[in-house]
Parts: sequence; C-alpha cells; structure tokens
Amino acid sequence: MSDIPVINPATGAQLYAMKPATDLECEAAMGAARSAAEALRATPLTARLEALTAFLDYLRDHREALLDQIVAESGRSRGDAMLSDIFQLTEDCLWLRDHAAAVLADEKVATPISLLGKHCRIRRDAHGVVLVISPWNLPLAIGMTAAMFAFVAGNAVILKPSEHTPMVAVFEAIRQRHPLLYLGLQVVHGGGDVGARLVQARPDLVVFTGSQPTGRRILASAAPLLIPVLLELGAKDPMLVFDDADLPRAVAAACWGNLHNSGQSCTAVEQLHVQEGIFETFVAALVAASGEIRLGTGAAHDLGAITTAFQMTHIDALVQDAVAQGAVLHCGGRRSECGHFYLPTVLTGVTSAMRISQEEIFGPVVAVYSFASEAEIIARHNSNPSGLSTSVWSRDKARCRRLEQALSTGCININNVMLTEGNAGLPFGGVRQSGFGRMKGAEGLRGMTRSKAVLEDPTRGKPEPNWYPYSAEKLALTGELLDLLGQKGLRRWWRLARVGLAIDRLVKRQHRA
Ligand code: NAD
Repeated sequence: MSDIPVINPATGAQLYAMKPATDLECEAAMGAARSAAEALRATPLTARLEALTAFLDYLRDHREALLDQIVAESGRSRGDAMLSDIFQLTEDCLWLRDHAAAVLADEKVATPISLLGKHCRIRRDAHGVVLVISPWNLPLAIGMTAAMFAFVAGNAVILKPSEHTPMVAVFEAIRQRHPLLYLGLQVVHGGGDVGARLVQARPDLVVFTGSQPTGRRILASAAPLLIPVLLELGAKDPMLVFDDADLPRAVAAACWGNLHNSGQSCTAVEQLHVQEGIFETFVAALVAASGEIRLGTGAAHDLGAITTAFQMTHIDALVQDAVAQGAVLHCGGRRSECGHFYLPTVLTGVTSAMRISQEEIFGPVVAVYSFASEAEIIARHNSNPSGLSTSVWSRDKARCRRLEQALSTGCININNVMLTEGNAGLPFGGVRQSGFGRMKGAEGLRGMTRSKAVLEDPTRGKPEPNWYPYSAEKLALTGELLDLLGQKGLRRWWRLARVGLAIDRLVKRQHRA
C-alpha cells in the first residue's frame, strides 16, 4: 500500500507521508488489543484514572506544540483548534476523572417482595476491545474523547484516525506517556480500507464518528458479525430565530455557529430559520458580521482553511448549484484569492430542488429561510432527515419550553448555539439519520460497558418455592400472591405475610417429604 501524503491545507505544503497499516499490522493490533483487554480486566479503575491523569498532563504540558500540529494538519484557525480540540477534550477528560468512579460503580436494585431476602445489583463490565474510527474535522478531540471514555470504562482501544489528519507523532507520544496507555491504546493508521479491515477483525464494539454514507457501510459490515455499533453521523443543524429574540446576540451566534472550525463541525449551523418580521434586518446584520471575519490560521484570525481538497470542491459545488438555480448570494460564494479558504457565504431563496437544501455542507456557508409561525417551523424542523443539534432563540420562556419538547433532535440549545457539547456531563448524539447511541456524560460512559445483572442469595438450606415439585396448592398460593402484588394499603402487607408463611410451610413440607 502506498504512503498517504499529509498536507497543510492552509499552505498546500506536504508535512509528512503516513504509512497505512498492512493487513498483518491490523491483525497484530487486534491481537495486542485482545491481550490488553484481558490485562485491563484485572486492572482497578484507580490505575486507569492514573493513566488518564497522565494524558491530561500531556495535554497541559504540550499545549502549544499540539496546537501547532492540529493547525498544520487541519488548517483551522488557532482559536478554533484551542476551543474544539484542546479545551473541549481537556474538559471531557476532567469530567471523566471526577465522575467515572460513581458512574461505573455497582448499582443496587430494589428486590421485589416475591424475591424477599435476595440481593440484586447491576455491575458494569467492559466490552473488551473497542474500535474507535474518527473523522478529520477535530483530529485530536473526537478520537481521543471516545478512546478515553472506552479506556476508563476498562476496554482496550484501537483508534483509527482519519487519513487526512492522522497526527501520527502525537498519538505515539500519548501512548508513551503511561504504561497503561501503551498497553490499552493501539493506534492504527490508514484510509477507509484499513477501517473496514479493523471492523472485520471483530472488535466487541465499534464507535464511529463520520459521514452518513460511511456509517451505513460500517453498520452493514458489522451486522453479519453481530458487533454493536455506535454512530455519530452528520447533520444539517438548524437555528430558529423568533422575532422577539435578542437580535445582536443571535446574529453573533449565527455567525460563529456557522463559521467555527470553518463550518466543518457536525453541529454547525447550516440552516438559519428567521421569523418573517425580522428576516431582512437579520440577513443584513449577518452579512455585515461576515464582512468582519479575518481569514487565516493565526491567533488573531477567525476563519481557518478548508481541511481537504474534496471538501472545498463539495462546498463550492453546492453553492454554485444553488446560485445557478436562483438562490440569492449575499456574500462570499467563492474561495479566497490565496490559500485554501472559503469566504463566509450567506444565501437566501434556497428551494428544496437545490442540493444545498438536502446535503450536509460542512463549510462556511449558511442558507437563511423565513417562517411565519411556531407551528410552521416545528413541522419544518421535524421533517429534516437528520437531527443532531438545534438552537432556539426567543425571549419567551414558555415558547422555548414548548419547542424543547416539540423539536425532534439530539441536543437543543436555548438562546445559545452548539454549547450542549461544552458540558461533558450532557450526553451527545443525534436522532434519525444523525445516528444512534450517545457519547459523553454518564450515558456515554455506560455505553462503553455491558451491564451485568447480579442476584445473590444468602443460602438458607431450602429449595425455592418456584422449583419442583409443582402442586395445586402451590399454584393457588402463587395466584393469591400475584393478586396481592398490585394492591396497596396496610391490609395488603398482612395478607402478603399470611401467603408468604403459607408458601414457606408448603416448601418445608415438600422438602421433608
Ligand atoms: P468519513 O465518513 O469519510 O470518514 C470517517 C472515518 O471513517 C475516517 O477515519 C475514514 O478513514 C473511515 N472510513 C471510511 N470508510 C470506511 C469503511 N468502509 N469502514 C471503516 N472505516 C471507514 O467522514 P469524514 O469526512 O472524515 O468526516 C466528516 C463527517 O463526519 C461529516 O459528515 C460530519 O458531520 C461527521 N461528524 C459527525 C460528528 C458527530 O459527532 N455526529 C462529529 C464530527 C464529524
């Protein structure tokens, strides 16, 4: 297999060549991960949390060098890389450090009266080997958040980063940071073919973040092997602005929500729905705000480059298709004179015949639509094929509560944008074509485990009433017990005690006979 060039998107210069893993190397990685999973099974959580702390120290000690590398490989602005890759990843891992023990602890479950005397609990076991396949838009944070959640839950992890932003030296340095990370985290590089081969190597869980077409392919290849798959897929996230919203704040949010990470965020605002009374004012203010955006990758730049050449072609094709079919271009609509940047682009007059209304843009382009009423926008919102993150803007708290309940989506931000992701305690994931399963939060961490139901019976030297031999008397007492289970009140307890004693006497009699 030939090497894959890793390009700095902002300059076009080749940074290095990445060697994709061979079939043998994929198999070896799975073998090593299987042995590591066995070893990790016997490793206490405290030891895994020590390794997590070593990773957090690495993020702190190498922050500037990491930012250099992320910016070089992704072409995003330094501010975007700081917020989405370093800050977010650190916060997620801090949450993990502080909450993992409580979330993963055995959970006592109340015992029903019919099982009186027994002790029940749920324990959380690691899956074994978790395969994490990640995209290029956040080269460090997406893969490492999933990897650390899986690792802290007790799994061995195989991480397959995107071939476009493989961060080879960084992942190797992370592994070297702690013996348990070296043992429990294998990083396998390569393109989609390597990802597909790793799925065929039969991990115990696949955690995939990426596009919908690839998600479908992975699900299809995991199905015959009965491997569970967690899918975090793309979206066309909407922002809904009512005419009573704080306008300057909503405009600033729309601008950032669309342009952050050069629009290459799964939760980026791609559809902006503005109530008709403020539509013209809003579009004018958004176009003015777009004019203030500074292109570049430095600390004082806002909008970075487009990470891959195919993404640039895709963005431009959607914009050109819309304009050719009559959409109104208010600003942007083309790449920059120099560098691999796309200008902030605002479109109105987009119709359902245009590709941009259906396909994920994943670029600094927003289509602005108007709506008349709450009922209309709820219906329009819920007809979206995907649903990851929605934002609602209104000063009317009652309306916000109604929308929170009515809108079908994975995450909802009220008078803010993309920010549910900022709280590691909240679950993250989508509905419909945006995938299923949740990352982060207690739900995300538990998703990296299998629950095991445990019932412990203090031995009492006699058989259970539900065991043989059956008899007409036992059947009648069982019926009486069943009738009593649903009843309430003090008399019920007295009756239950009477039936319980009768069953106990019957079992003893049968046992002696
Ligand atoms: P992609 O689907 O092209 O690739 C993602 C990863 O899958 C890469 O590592 C790739 O090598 C691998 N891959 C490709 N084909 C494979 C196969 N057949 N089997 C196994 N692995 C395979 O996605 P991308 O272009 O890297 O990322 C952009 C997409 O990711 C966008 O659609 C975006 O919305 C989505 N995304 C979603 C989230 C989320 O949490 N919902 C977050 C970030 C990005």
